[in-house]
Amino acid sequence: MQSALDRARELDAADPLARFREEFVIEDPEVIYLDGNSLGRMPRRTLPLMQELLAQQWGSELIRSWPDSWLSLPSQLGAKIAQLIGAQDDEVLVCDSTSVNLYKLVHAALALHPGRTEILTDGANFPSDWYVLAGIAEKTSHSLRGQGGPDENTALLTLSHVTFKSGELYDMAALTKEAHAQGALTLWDLSHSVGAVPVHLIACNADLAVGCTYKYLNAGPGSSAFLYIRRDLQEQLRNPIQGWFGRDNAFDFGLDYRPRTGIDRFLTGSPNILSMAPVGPGVDLILEAGIENLRAKSLQQTDFLIELWQEHLAPLGFTLNTPTEPHRRGSHVSFGHPDALAIDLALINEANVIPDFRTPDNIRFGCTPLYTTFAELANAIARICTIMETGTYKHYCGQVPAIT
Ligand SMILES: *Cc1c(COP(=O)(O)O)cnc(C)c1O
Repeated sequence: MQSALDRARELDAADPLARFREEFVIEDPEVIYLDGNSLGRMPRRTLPLMQELLAQQWGSELIRSWPDSWLSLPSQLGAKIAQLIGAQDDEVLVCDSTSVNLYKLVHAALALHPGRTEILTDGANFPSDWYVLAGIAEKTSHSLRGQGGPDENTALLTLSHVTFKSGELYDMAALTKEAHAQGALTLWDLSHSVGAVPVHLIACNADLAVGCTYKYLNAGPGSSAFLYIRRDLQEQLRNPIQGWFGRDNAFDFGLDYRPRTGIDRFLTGSPNILSMAPVGPGVDLILEAGIENLRAKSLQQTDFLIELWQEHLAPLGFTLNTPTEPHRRGSHVSFGHPDALAIDLALINEANVIPDFRTPDNIRFGCTPLYTTFAELANAIARICTIMETGTYKHYCGQVPAIT
């Protein structure tokens, strides 16, 4: 493993993004954090921002902060995210959670195609997406199909852009084209791609998208999600959850509902200001580093992990559950092993490495190029080897924690 560590140190020394690691709170450099694909680290600049928000905006200014600082936040932060996903400023809104945004957009999309009977997704999509789709399908009498391509019955094709288990990156342009050729709309879940891979929604002709901000955008636990609606669709779609923030001129308090113009109609209730504000510094850091530069480093890092797997983990019985072709890979690598959960727990509890586990056999190593170093990757692989060679992981066989 020494040669791997030497190579890692050379790669770190040559890394043009190395300075961004200092932008994050890293209390214990011995802990190798490889779960930024699930909950990103906290940017240092988020702390003074939240301090100001609580003490000044809420504490001192009180309700006056709504017009002065808060009302515009969903669209202001949406415009920031738009720069990362190849959209226009007025096509993205920050609000609610990913699951709720998915619900709103799927419902709205189905209403555009009343004659079509089917929602199409695939088995690699995130379970929450499946639950939302199944619930809507049941209520609206659509069928939900999980395999094959779009056809003349398909109202909507919805997929994860990068899948959560294997980290496979889908060809958004080709799949969108295929759906459009059948007259179906597309909705992309960008939760595992935003901030990790360049996304070009307009260039791909995508209709709708949702995504989360607490993974690669580092906005904190439960931070507000976002939604995208192609501009020419905005006036045609109706928000199924009609709340006052989506109503034209909410403060006349009339009892009739008239949707606002543009994407703002997809707001529902009061924006979650406290969970939304940290999206700002999170996205700023990505914009400062440049998404193309981050992608280049991410591919270098996932390539490095795959090389180390081949050399050190494959002989110990690990499979590679992530595509080897770079253009089909997001920013995490999944290693498969029959004792994956026990190995994951041993890494966390005995080896100061924090990856995560996804059933049935995946240990996910998330590469977050703003702060992950090559040395961390080499050391993490060395620590897996130690756990396997000493058999420490066997103490954890049969344990099932509440959160993996
Ligand atoms: C993380 C993730 C979500 C999260 O949904 P929330 O409602 O914000 O908890 C949804 N979809 C995908 C594909 C995800 O990876």
